[in-house]
Amino acid sequence: MNTYIVTCPSCSSKNRIPADRQHMRPKCAKCGTPFELRDKAQPIELTDHEFQNFLKGATLPVMVDFYSPTCGPCKALAPLIYRLNREYLGRVQIATLNTALHPGTAGHYQIRGVPTLLFFQNGQLTDQVVGAPPEPQLRQKLEQLARRRG
Ligand SMILES: [Zn+2]
Repeated sequence: MNTYIVTCPSCSSKNRIPADRQHMRPKCAKCGTPFELRDKAQPIELTDHEFQNFLKGATLPVMVDFYSPTCGPCKALAPLIYRLNREYLGRVQIATLNTALHPGTAGHYQIRGVPTLLFFQNGQLTDQVVGAPPEPQLRQKLEQLARRRG
């Protein structure tokens, strides 16, 4: 699981934010100032080891980008995934999984090519896209997923 450092705008202390908790309105550990993370949020980098626990514990709908670092279409898609993660912070948790390092989860979901995007609601697979979708299609999928919440 990736984390990143946020400097508190009030007291300048540095706080380590785990990506899987960035949607939970984190506050400065020292002075309690709430952080605005929309321009800092990162997709959650998952491993095979973390995947099922993350999915079970997720309180929002989840989208996972299964990618490989050597795949051209995956690289082309990555900036859009980053941008949409910031936009959907608090509505959908967006994660990535490097299938070259972590092939087990991709095998479990019978993923045959990358990029593949899987969409989950309450831990259940509800939708998927094989290949890099155009931005309007991906937005539509995310809106559907966010609306299904609760
Ligand atoms: Zn502070």
